[in-house]
Amino acid sequence: MALRDFFISLSENEAISTAAQNYGFKLGAQHIVAGANLQEVIESVRTLNEQGIACTIDNLGEFVTEEATAIQAKDEILALIEAIHSEQLNAHISLKPSQLGLDIDIDFCYDNLHEIVEHANECGIFVNFDMEDSPRLQMTFDMLKELQKSFNNVGTVIQAYLHRAKGDIENFKDSRLRVVKGAYKESEEIAYQDQLEIDINFLELIEYHLTHGLFTSIATHDHNIINHVKYFVEQYNIPKEKFEFQLLYGFRKDLQVELAREGYQVCVYVPYGEDWYGYFMRLLAERPQNINLVTKRVFNKKTNTVLAVAAGAFVLGRLTKRK
Ligand SMILES: Cc1cc2nc3c(=O)[nH]c(=O)nc-3n(C[C@H](O)[C@H](O)[C@H](O)COP(=O)(O)OP(=O)(O)OC[C@H]3O[C@@H](n4cnc5c(N)ncnc54)[C@H](O)[C@@H]3O)c2cc1C
Repeated sequence: MALRDFFISLSENEAISTAAQNYGFKLGAQHIVAGANLQEVIESVRTLNEQGIACTIDNLGEFVTEEATAIQAKDEILALIEAIHSEQLNAHISLKPSQLGLDIDIDFCYDNLHEIVEHANECGIFVNFDMEDSPRLQMTFDMLKELQKSFNNVGTVIQAYLHRAKGDIENFKDSRLRVVKGAYKESEEIAYQDQLEIDINFLELIEYHLTHGLFTSIATHDHNIINHVKYFVEQYNIPKEKFEFQLLYGFRKDLQVELAREGYQVCVYVPYGEDWYGYFMRLLAERPQNINLVTKRVFNKKTNTVLAVAAGAFVLGRLTKRK
C-alpha cells in the first residue's frame, strides 16, 4: 500500500482521532494548529495580522454524523464571526460542509450554512466552503449556488486534480475562489493521478480565474507555481488586489513573510480546535516530507510512540480484516 493511502486511512480512524484529540496539544500539535479554542486562535491571528498577513480561520471538524455536533460547530463558527468582527481582525471563515451536517441531511446542512453566511454577511465577513472529497462536491456546489442567490460573501474551492474542474471554474467565475491541487484520494476515472498533469491543470485554472474571475486565492506551498503566478500577473497587468497567495498555518513561514514584504496579499489558513487529527494526516499523506518539516517541533519521543502505535493498530486492523 502506498504511503499516501496509509496516511489517508489513518486520517479516517476514529479511535486514533479521539486519542489525538486528548493528547495532541500536550504533544505539540500547536505548531500546525493555531489554538485549542477561540481565545487562542484570536491571539494567533492577531500576530499574523501584525505581519501584514490576512487569515482564513477554520474551526476544525469534519464528517459529522450527529445533529447535536453539527449544531455545536455552527454555534462555534457564529461565535468566531462575532469575534472577528468585534476584534476587527483581518480574517474570514473557512468551513467544511460535512462538519455542518452534510452527511446527515442536505437540507439540515443548508440551513446551518445559511445561518452562518447570513450572519457573516451582516458583519461584512467572507465565508469559504472548503472542498472535500468527490462524493460531497456536487452537493457543496449546489448549496453554494443557492446561497449566492441571496449573498455575495460566499465562495468555494476548485481542485485541479479533478477532470471536471475547468467546467466548474467557468461556472463559478463570478465568485471569489480558492484554487488548489486537491488533497483527497480520488480514482483515475475522475482525477488526474500524475503530478505533472495536476500541475499543468492547476496553472491553467489559476490563469483562467486571474483573467476572467472575480478574485483568486492561489493556495499552494509550491514555489514553482508561486513564481509562475508572479510572472503571469506581471505579463498580464493583473493588479495585486485581484488575487492572494494562501498557505497553511505553520508551513513555509519564511515564504509567507517574504511574499507579504514583496507587496503581495498573503492569507494564512488558520485551523483551530481539538479535532486536528484528520487534517494533519492528510498533510502527511500528500507530502510525507511534511513530517520532516515538523519533526523537530511536533515529534518527539512521545509522538513517535503515538504514531508507531497508530501504525501498529492500523496494520493489525487490516490483517484482522483480511482473516
Ligand atoms: C491554504 C490552503 C487551503 C487548502 N484547501 C483545500 C481544500 O479546500 N480542498 C482540498 O482538497 N485541498 C486543499 N488544500 C490542499 C491542496 O489541495 C494540496 O493538497 C496541498 O496544498 C499540497 O499541494 P501544494 O500545491 O502545496 O504542493 P505539493 O504538490 O505538496 O508540493 C510541490 C512542491 O512544493 C514544494 N513544497 C511543498 N510544500 C513544501 C513545504 N512545506 N516546504 C518546502 N517546500 C514545499 C516542494 O518542492 C514540493 O515538491 C489547501 C491547501 C492550502 C495551502
